[in-house]
Amino acid sequence: MGKALALANQKGGVGKTTTSVSVASWLAASGWRVLLIDADPQGNATSSLGIDKRTLPRSTYDVLIEGVAVGDALVVAARERLDLLGANPALAGAEVELVSLSRRERRLGLALETVREQYDVVLIDCPPSLGLLTVNALAAVDEVIVPIQCEYLALEGLMQLINSIDLVKRRLNPALDVIGVVMTMFDPRTRLANQVVEDVRRYFPSRMFTTLIPRSVRLAEAPSFGKTIFEYDPTSRGAQAYRSLSEEVAARLALAPPGAQASFGSAASLSGAATSGGSR
Ligand code: ATP
Ligand code: MG
Repeated sequence: MGKALALANQKGGVGKTTTSVSVASWLAASGWRVLLIDADPQGNATSSLGIDKRTLPRSTYDVLIEGVAVGDALVVAARERLDLLGANPALAGAEVELVSLSRRERRLGLALETVREQYDVVLIDCPPSLGLLTVNALAAVDEVIVPIQCEYLALEGLMQLINSIDLVKRRLNPALDVIGVVMTMFDPRTRLANQVVEDVRRYFPSRMFTTLIPRSVRLAEAPSFGKTIFEYDPTSRGAQAYRSLSEEVAARLALAPPGAQASFGSAASLSGAATSGGSR
C-alpha cells in the first residue's frame, strides 16, 4: 500500500502545484509508481504536465461527484510510472455539489482505496482554499506537505491551516500528520527571506525540510511548455532543489527502494513519455 500526501495551503501562489508536479515527476523518474491527483479547479498540475484540461475525457470531478472509478478516469502514463487524475474548471462545481452528497468529506479517500496498492506514492495538489475539496484531500492522505512562500506575512493564515488539519485529524483521519514544511521562492540575498525562514523554523521546529526552494525563473517557465523542471532545465538550481527535496520526502516516508529500474537522467525516457501519455 502506497503512501498518500496532500500539498495544502489555503494561501494562493505559494508553490503547491510546482512542488506537487516536481516531486511527483522526480519520484516517478526514480522508479517509484506515482499517482498525481489534481484537486484544484484551476487544473494547473494537469496543464503543467502538458495535458490539455479542455480535452480531458474524465477528471477528479467525475470521481468525486459521478462515482466514476479512479482507474477509469486516469491519464495513464502522463510520464513513465506517473499517472494523473486531471482537473478542469468543472471541479469548481464539486465544491458546491459535494455538500448535498453522502460521505461528502470521504469521497476522494473512498475512491482511492481501490487503487492505492497500485502506487508507491499518491500526491494530491490542493486548491487555495479550505473547502470540501481540500478536506477530501486531507481525509484521504497519510501526510501533508505545507509549502510556504518566503515573503512578508508568510505565517498569516497558517494557524487556520493547522486548525483545519487538526479538525480533519480528530473527525475523519486520526493518522493524519504534517510530514514537513517546505520554504519556496527563497531569495538568499534578502534579509526578509532569511527572517521568514527563521520565523517558520520557530513555528515548526522539527518539521522544516532542509532544502530551500530558490526563486527561479526556470521554475516559473517550465509549466508554460508543459514540461517538468527536470525536462525543461535539469541542471538549473530549481531542478537541483526539487531533486533534493524529493529525496528528503522519500526518506521521511521511508519508501522502500523502487522496484523498477530507475531511469532518472535518461533523456529518452523523460521526453519520450511526454508524448506517449494516453487516457482510457
Ligand atoms: P494556487 O494557490 O493558485 O494553486 P500554488 O500554491 O499551486 O498556486 P504555484 O502555481 O506552484 O503555486 O506557483 C505560483 C506561481 O509562482 C506560478 O506561476 C509558478 O510558476 C511560480 N513559481 C512557483 N515556484 C517558484 C519558484 N521557486 N520560483 C519562481 N517562481 C515560482
Ligand atoms: Mg496550484
